[in-house]
Amino acid sequence: MTEKRSEINQIGEFGLIDRISSRVELQNSSTVKGIGDDAAVIDAGDDFTLLCSDMLTEGVHFDLSYVPLRHLGYKAVVVNLSDIAAMNGRPEQIIVSLGLSNRFSLQAVDELYEGIRAACQNYKVDLVGGDTTSSASGLVISITAIGRVQKDKVVYRSGAKSNDIICVTGDLGAAYVGLQILEREKQVFLTNPEMKPQLEDFEYVVGRQLKPEARTDIVHELGDLGIVPTSMIDISDGLASELLHLSKNSGLGVKIFEDKIPIDTKVYETAAIELKVDPITCTLNGGEDYELLFTITQADFEKIKNHPDIHFIGHMHDEAKQNLLISKQGTVIPLQAQGWNHFTSQSTG
Ligand code: ADP
Ligand code: MG
Repeated sequence: MTEKRSEINQIGEFGLIDRISSRVELQNSSTVKGIGDDAAVIDAGDDFTLLCSDMLTEGVHFDLSYVPLRHLGYKAVVVNLSDIAAMNGRPEQIIVSLGLSNRFSLQAVDELYEGIRAACQNYKVDLVGGDTTSSASGLVISITAIGRVQKDKVVYRSGAKSNDIICVTGDLGAAYVGLQILEREKQVFLTNPEMKPQLEDFEYVVGRQLKPEARTDIVHELGDLGIVPTSMIDISDGLASELLHLSKNSGLGVKIFEDKIPIDTKVYETAAIELKVDPITCTLNGGEDYELLFTITQADFEKIKNHPDIHFIGHMHDEAKQNLLISKQGTVIPLQAQGWNHFTSQSTG
C-alpha cells in the first residue's frame, strides 16, 4: 500500500532533517559525525576534516532588488565559514555551485565572484571547484566549505554540562532589523519610484544583513586562551532556536536572562522606534546574525570574563526541556523557537 501524501510543512525543516537522518546508515568508520551538527566531522588522519553546505535561493533567501551581487557572493561564503567556526574549526577550502537563468549576464557573474573572492581573501580560504548549471527561475548558489580541527578541539552541539556558562559573541538582532528596513524601503520605492531609499540612518543594521562576517576570530582567540567550549553552534536562525538545539543535543535545560542579551543601541532604537517591534524578539527569533553561541566551564570563565565581545547570558541546568528566559522584571518565560521555518506560510528566511 502506498503511503498517503503528507505535506512537508506538517513536520517543518528540522522534522524533515530528523526524518532523513533516521534513515541514514553510516558505512565508513572515518565518518565521525554525520547529519545533526553545524558540519560533518570526518577522520582525516592527524586531524578531523569538517564539511558543511548551504544553499541560497533567489526569492527565498535574497532579493536582488536590494542585494548587490557582490554582497551576495560574500555572504554565501561567510554563512558556510560560520558553520566551520561553530565546530571550533578553521575553514580552508570552498566549492561553489551555481544555477543561473539567462537573466544573468557575464558581468553579473563576475560581480558575484568578486564577492566570493573577497571573502576567500579575508578568511584565507581557497576556491577549489564547483558546478555550473542553468536554472529555470532565478539564481541558486550552493557553497560547500571544508575545514580542519585538531581532534581534541572539535566542539559539538551536544557537549554542554550542567552549570556551564552560556556565551554569545557580538550583538544580536541587527541582521533581522536590517532586513525589515530594506523591505520597507523597497515597498516605498515600489509605490513611488521617485522616492530614494532612506538608508543613511540604518547603515549598521543594513550592513549586518548584507555583509555578515563569520566569527573565525573568536575561534582563534579561544584557542590562544586555551579554551575549548563544551558546546557550540552559530546563530543563523535566531538565539532561541539555537539555544534549543544546544539544550536538546546536550540533554539539558538552558536558562538565560533578558538583560544580558547583547543588543546594539542602534538596533534597539530602530526596532523599537522605527519598526515598532520588540527588540528582544528580534534577537530571539530574528536570524542571520552569524555570531557564535557556546558554553564554557565555570573554570574557564576567569579567562574571558573581561573579553569585550563575548557576553554571558545564562547557564545550563539539569532539567532537560526547562528552557527559560528570565525577563527584566523577573518573569519566567518558556523559550520557544520560531526562527525561520522555510516550509510554513510565515516563511521569510
Ligand atoms: P545550519 O543551520 O547549521 O546550516 P541546518 O539546520 O541547515 O544547519 O542543518 C542541520 C543538519 O542537517 C546538518 O548536519 C546538515 O548537514 C543536515 N542537513 C540539512 N539538510 C539536509 C539534507 N537535505 N540531507 C541531509 N542532511 C541535511
Ligand atoms: Mg549552523
